[in-house]
Amino acid sequence: MPDSNASDRVVYRTCPLCEATCGLELTVRDERVVRVRGDRDDVFSAGYLCPKGVALGELHDDADRLRQPLIKTATGFREASWDEAFAAVEAGLMPILARGERNAVAIYAGNPVSHNFGANLYLRALIRALATQNFYSASTVDQMPKHVVSGLLFGDPQALPVPDVEHCEFLLMLGANPWESNGSLWTAPNLPGRLKALRKRGGKLVVVDPRRTRTAAHADEHHAIRPGTDALWLLALARVIVFERLAKPDRLAKITSGLEPLRELLAPFTPQEVAARCGIAAEHTLRLARELAASPAAAVYARFGTHAARFGTLAAWATELLNVLTGNLDRRGGVMFPRGVHERSREGTGGGKGFRLGRWRSRVHGHAEVMSELPVATLADEITTPGRGQVRALLTIAGNPVLSTPDGSHLAAALEQLEFMVSVDIYLNETSRHADVILPPPSALERSHYDLFFTRLSIRAVANYSPAVFTHEGLSESAILARLALIARGEGAQADAAIIDGELLDELVQRELAHPQSLLSERDIEQVLASLDGDEPCERILDFLLRSGPQGEGFGRRVDGLSLARLRAHPHGLDFGGLEAQLPGLLKTPSGRIELVSEVVSAELTRIRAQLLEQPPGDALLLIGRREFQSNNSWLHNLPSLATGHASCVLHMHPDDAQRRGLADGDAVRIRSSAAEVLVPLALTSDIMSGVVSLPHGYGHGLAGTRLKVANGVNGASANDLTECVVEGPSGNAVLNGVMVDVAAA
Ligand code: SF4
Repeated sequence: MPDSNASDRVVYRTCPLCEATCGLELTVRDERVVRVRGDRDDVFSAGYLCPKGVALGELHDDADRLRQPLIKTATGFREASWDEAFAAVEAGLMPILARGERNAVAIYAGNPVSHNFGANLYLRALIRALATQNFYSASTVDQMPKHVVSGLLFGDPQALPVPDVEHCEFLLMLGANPWESNGSLWTAPNLPGRLKALRKRGGKLVVVDPRRTRTAAHADEHHAIRPGTDALWLLALARVIVFERLAKPDRLAKITSGLEPLRELLAPFTPQEVAARCGIAAEHTLRLARELAASPAAAVYARFGTHAARFGTLAAWATELLNVLTGNLDRRGGVMFPRGVHERSREGTGGGKGFRLGRWRSRVHGHAEVMSELPVATLADEITTPGRGQVRALLTIAGNPVLSTPDGSHLAAALEQLEFMVSVDIYLNETSRHADVILPPPSALERSHYDLFFTRLSIRAVANYSPAVFTHEGLSESAILARLALIARGEGAQADAAIIDGELLDELVQRELAHPQSLLSERDIEQVLASLDGDEPCERILDFLLRSGPQGEGFGRRVDGLSLARLRAHPHGLDFGGLEAQLPGLLKTPSGRIELVSEVVSAELTRIRAQLLEQPPGDALLLIGRREFQSNNSWLHNLPSLATGHASCVLHMHPDDAQRRGLADGDAVRIRSSAAEVLVPLALTSDIMSGVVSLPHGYGHGLAGTRLKVANGVNGASANDLTECVVEGPSGNAVLNGVMVDVAAA
């Protein structure tokens, strides 16, 4: 703890590094962060934080973080002014756009975009300006099956139910490790503490995972499952519940269609048939299905390990099917839909247009579009395959797909074939080194923060705004994206970003005016716009969203309602309460019901029968990923406090598998897949099931041309060099878990 100093200032802000959205207390001295603690008064996190949050000051001070735009020259990158950089973007992009092939320019957005409300709001303007169908993001590496299933069942791909962990009595968790990651598509700071509390009050936590993770070690039961078979096992649970007549959807029965054909659809998935493929004995499946059905407040939660796998969509469907069959969807203690605090459009009326996927298809492999995205695993082929619509230019925004998407070395080679590339990034990393122009946004402490995205996933309706801690000389993300959008529209590198600011605000005004209970009717719009609060244009947009949202002050209609000014006055956040039932109002399916069975689901059930259930159990060695407490994305590896002092990128293997191969703990091993081979050290552990090996992702630094002093000194190989560009059924999600590999002494 530093000595206190008269010049110290204490500021509060929400950590932008992961979904937990912890409140932090920062002590700033001489324009440097000298201490980070959990904010004990934060209405949501109440003092919780992890080592990543503590490193925020380090991230800000990192000498490798870019402060000026870079332009590539024949001899390397040189620093440039913002005007020079945008002129270079215009010069590189316009000739490609002038050919009239809008799809020739692709965008990739990394997951930090979700943690940045300015980038979130303005990315839409950029996509629209480019009018490209080649939009890619980290969603097709991580979570797209979950969106597809919510789209099919509820008509809204963004309606993602989360476990009501505060009241749950039986939590069945697959492919998730909140002890390391603190929740995914599930915002609840201090999930380890909340899960301990669940058990302390007599609840039960069951973890199903190929590894005995830290979460599994804290559970009542852990069952090891063979990677890629989660969907099969979940279907077996559902079969037991249906065939033993344990289903009690209660009030959901009246608003759900598709319950009748379940008996026939689930018939083949007996616990006995499934056992040989999953590795979970039928007796455990039967018992757990009965316990799940008998619990008055149970939730099934499945995440990354199950979604980035061969039958990810079916795993996501079977998860919600179990929650429906047991009556636990939209019920206290089950899984519930979070209430956004600023999203007017989510006030449904029960019924809507529903969800469509496949409105267009990828050019080379014909994969269906989902939520206006194409599978990032196919991006390299879109760049390297000639023909009309070939991707010739790429804009990456806060992403490092060379390390974080499948077959990264293939993608890196493809990037070299582009005619032009722009990266909006704070680092010269494994991806941005391929760019012609790099535009660096502010550090996380140089911009204000509000979680636009994660209130949609939160167990409490919480709003928390953090002003910027430090001033910033450059351009904000929103200004960068606005100017890129204006270039794409042909308005030139000098065009004023205020044009886009005005358009985005006007769009919100028009949407509000079109609302049946418009808050703006009989209001002087100019007066309303003039009253908006905020130092930056994106903050004024945020103020509009807050004031027009369900908790908003309604432009003068509710004295104590939400606004940016009110949030500024509450630096520890405002809490508008816990989860509440929202069905059927939230449903946007054409029928206004939960549409349980669709053509997509039926086809996936047929596929899993043919490709998994009716095939002999496999015995190949399968590779899975691994999340580590001190890591999140590849860029955190450049922070000394997180990256040094421990060897993370080692291959975990069961001692029996090692013995069969004549390998010993600490050996250097060669992992070979159909895509590539990499060398890493071996660590033996009986915490992983036999037949499975695990390697964390985001490593593989040290490539020429990067500027990452610390990360480049960290040993490790990229797990994603081993993964092939294979995507999962309807969602197009990358298949990262369950990759067949050989391991031998190096
Ligand atoms: S758990 Fe997530 S939000 Fe909380 S301090 Fe760590 S990285 Fe930040």
